Amino acid sequence: MKQAIHVRGLTKRYGDVQAVAGLDLDIEQGEVFAILGPNGAGKSTTVEILEGYRSRDSGEVSVLGADPARPTREWRSRIGIVLQTANDAAELTVRETVRHFARYYPSPRDADEVIAQVGLTESAGKRVRQLSGGQRRRVDVALGLVGRPELLFLDEPTTGFDPEARRQFWDLIENLAHDGTTIVLTTHYLEEAETLADRVAVVARGQVVALGDPATLGGRATAKARVAWSEGTVETDTPTATVAELGRRYGGEVPGLSVTRPTLEDVYLRLIEHPS
Ligand code: ADP
Repeated sequence: MKQAIHVRGLTKRYGDVQAVAGLDLDIEQGEVFAILGPNGAGKSTTVEILEGYRSRDSGEVSVLGADPARPTREWRSRIGIVLQTANDAAELTVRETVRHFARYYPSPRDADEVIAQVGLTESAGKRVRQLSGGQRRRVDVALGLVGRPELLFLDEPTTGFDPEARRQFWDLIENLAHDGTTIVLTTHYLEEAETLADRVAVVARGQVVALGDPATLGGRATAKARVAWSEGTVETDTPTATVAELGRRYGGEVPGLSVTRPTLEDVYLRLIEHPS
């Protein structure tokens, strides 16, 4: 597989604040990659450097084979960006807005096709300002997609969504990933990262402190299981044996039985407190 993004030793300082402190990152083409981390970790700064909207102090950066510090129009047209701030052309209709943005790209997608893809067909003739927050976010995504990007950056795409809108949005991202678009998203929602991402990077204090498949990050898959029932709790490497033993002890159903491994949130909170 070819690399979409390659970063080595990236640094960025604002006055006294070392926002990015020697960050390394490799993202493959076609991957859905999530960047997690607490506020102030350096996520936005890093992503803005990758997008070509912020300068770096030092380090090696390649995005779709080019240095984003010297962005060309051709390079920009291969990248889609969905920012946190909603679009401001609110007096236009959804269709007008998408058509307008399509003109900036050499081979845009058909506006109505993109509108359908983000689930806004029925609202295509409405003014953007008449839409709900979640629908506006879909317009933002449509604008990120209309240029047919190879690489799509999504900055906290579902902040403010209700659970149903979030699930629909996840379906949309999965469809895009299926079509081969490389997707880099920052999110505060661990469930979102776990659902969507092939790999996640946890960023803290300007560095990647953990990287991997969300299912196994930080030793999740091999961590001790916790067997709990109404009268006790055991942490064990052999939960099956423990459950079998409990079954014998109770002569049948064990009251209140559950077997759990650390959640991504457990691992995440440990990582950002004690980065290794
Ligand atoms: P995140 O996206 O993970 O919340 P940021 O990249 O926004 O992190 O910020 C990293 C650090 O850099 C924070 O301490 C933030 O206050 C600081 N910072 C970000 N942008 C600027 C800026 N334009 N000027 C000064 N400090 C900044």
